[in-house]
Amino acid sequence: MKDAQAQSEPGFRDSVDLMFNRAVRLLDLSPGLEEKIRVCNATYIVRFGVRLRGHIHTFTGYRSNHSEHMEPVKGGIRYAPQVHQEEVEALAALMTYKCALVEVPFGGAKGGLCIDPRQWEAHELEQITRRFTYELAKRDLINPSQNVPAPDMGTSEREMAWMADQYARMNTTDINAHACVTGKPLNSGGIHGRVEATGRGVQYALREFFRHPEDVKRAGLSGQIDGKRIIVQGLGNVGYHAAKFLSQEDGAKIIAIIERDGALVSDDGLDVDLVRDWIGRTGGVTGCPAGRHVPDGAALLEEACDILIPAALEGVINLSNAERIQAPLIIEAANGPVTAAADEILRRKGTVIIPDLYANAGGVTVSYFEWVKNLSHIRFGRMQRRADEAHHLLLVEELERLSADRGLGWALSPDFKARYLRGSD
Ligand code: GLU
Repeated sequence: MKDAQAQSEPGFRDSVDLMFNRAVRLLDLSPGLEEKIRVCNATYIVRFGVRLRGHIHTFTGYRSNHSEHMEPVKGGIRYAPQVHQEEVEALAALMTYKCALVEVPFGGAKGGLCIDPRQWEAHELEQITRRFTYELAKRDLINPSQNVPAPDMGTSEREMAWMADQYARMNTTDINAHACVTGKPLNSGGIHGRVEATGRGVQYALREFFRHPEDVKRAGLSGQIDGKRIIVQGLGNVGYHAAKFLSQEDGAKIIAIIERDGALVSDDGLDVDLVRDWIGRTGGVTGCPAGRHVPDGAALLEEACDILIPAALEGVINLSNAERIQAPLIIEAANGPVTAAADEILRRKGTVIIPDLYANAGGVTVSYFEWVKNLSHIRFGRMQRRADEAHHLLLVEELERLSADRGLGWALSPDFKARYLRGSD
């Protein structure tokens, strides 16, 4: 599929640029400014060796800063064997546009390390991550005021904890050292809700969509999320949380989950937690008793359903399959899952696409709250004094207001506020 795609349609970065060109045609930008926004400012490539299992292994990593119009620049670090320069540049551009769209005051960046994390033990990954962090930090490519990574494909709060710790060791007098990455575990300066934030954002984007009957009708659908038949590609952090919340809280039926070793299918709806647990233990969906296993996972993208959620890699809906996609509504949980060429075909067919910039912005939005929390040195869960309490409440209310303005729906529950913001005296 990849080869056919490579021959007949532009690569990922060109695809993002084509979408950008289409969007700026609606604006009154001077041609010079248009190009300045589009281009990627700088991409750094680092190569470093780590002695593991008796050999020196050389790793290649990237950090691409698409736009520093606001600093710090922000975006995840991905661990995957196929990471390459064009990919991180495309993903960095998407971060610039995403942050601008939801008015999170960051520029756009993205990083990657060419590695298959499943091939390494945790202690080896820690060594590799610490060394990668060192290489980036000494060039200010990790820095609380300039460049703040976060988790992405193949990384999680564990890697962020290693990065934050490594950065803090290198900058022992920097009181803000922990703001150098977001997506950290709670005990390393993280924030409640960051892990599930991107999936939660996908759920909220869909809820918002279903609040507009004329849009729902345009997609050939009716009613609410309840009972809708959903196909999800990728049960990583984003896909899992989106599928879990939509099925457990909004009554959707997850009729298929596509993973790297095929798909699981069930007309009655899959138990998302059971499938996630199975993947965690076995590495794939094969043999999972939750549903029927179909070896050709990609074919499931083309199956009839109400909503298709690509939550894995970029470019999975492209010239080779766009014509056959039956879902009337696609929500881009991954970054760039629909190519520019496929986008044209789908729009001609009347398919409604909720774009990645909006649909998956929940992660970076909550990252912003984490970064603000780290810099303010306010511990959200430990407010004791009334003075702090007043300040803290204002901060939380401000964040909630910003989130509501952007339709992202982020809010602390009244119960959380009552428990933690009122103090214990
Ligand atoms: N990797 C996530 C994304 O693609 C999160 C980025 C962040 O929190 O900085 O949006």
